[in-house]
Amino acid sequence: ANNALKYFLIFLQTLSAQEDIIKWVRDHRVHHKFTDTNADPHNSKRGFFFSHVGWLLIKKHPDVKKFGSKVDMSDSEHDPALLFHRKIYMAAAIFLAFIAPIFGSMWLWDEDFYASMNINIARYVLGLHVNWAINSFAHMHGTRPYDKNNSSTDSYLFGFLAFGEGWHNYHHAFPWDYKTGEFENYFFNFSLIFIDLFAWLGWATDLKTTSIDMIRKRAIRTCPGGRPGRYVLAAHSTAEIATEWVASMGVGWRDTKSRNRFLCQMAASASIWVLAMVVIHSSGYSPLAVSPDNIVQSAPSRTALATSEISARVAR
Ligand SMILES: [Zn+2]
Ligand SMILES: [Zn+2]
Repeated sequence: ANNALKYFLIFLQTLSAQEDIIKWVRDHRVHHKFTDTNADPHNSKRGFFFSHVGWLLIKKHPDVKKFGSKVDMSDSEHDPALLFHRKIYMAAAIFLAFIAPIFGSMWLWDEDFYASMNINIARYVLGLHVNWAINSFAHMHGTRPYDKNNSSTDSYLFGFLAFGEGWHNYHHAFPWDYKTGEFENYFFNFSLIFIDLFAWLGWATDLKTTSIDMIRKRAIRTCPGGRPGRYVLAAHSTAEIATEWVASMGVGWRDTKSRNRFLCQMAASASIWVLAMVVIHSSGYSPLAVSPDNIVQSAPSRTALATSEISARVAR
């Protein structure tokens, strides 16, 4: 990204008020590197509530620090803009995410104070829930077309709600891929439109992606018997896509227990209905200080062959 795009993204990230960028990036990388272990900050094996929001409410597991310190943060931690952002973060977030939108709309078009405050808080809360849902829902419900060895899932529901972050099994398998999703097109992937727009302008450069051949090889290796999701849309009938859609939401309609659990969790997260404001949260995912290859999960990828083309990306 050029500087203009970089500062624009820093601005958008501040609007989401989800911690400063360095902290966000560290939690994100540690999650990828140590998925489903105690070192994963929002380890979904510790339950829905913990991975959704509980992890922010209690002390981190000691392993998060111990293993997390091994994750390479040299790019972000030495970036003057990000260091400055961290320094002024609290004041900037309070101003940009709360004071400016609430009082700005009152000043610009005479908005009512309560209307202005409520819609802004709704925006904030919904952004949080959709973001958190990637750590909870998208590690519990959905399909695993690329890697069965970790809990991350692909889901149409969150592909849509989280503007493309819901292709989470794909994202865990190929974390360097700026598309963060399996489809070549913009299907349920608003983030991709956003990045491609800036690539078209020449502001975003050096975008990394994944070849179909590599996706196929990886899916065969870590998801034997599975269908690589990318081909589902291209090669299957509408009926099959619909079945896939239901499956990807994790709804086993004949299995009452799992259906009820799914519905309870849906109800628990207030974020389902409103999409418009989530653009702000999605900016937190844009590749700001990318060093993506170093966050490929290291621990449970038990099938990585030392000589395979993918293993070079699996850290030791
Ligand atoms: Zn990620
Ligand atoms: Zn994840």
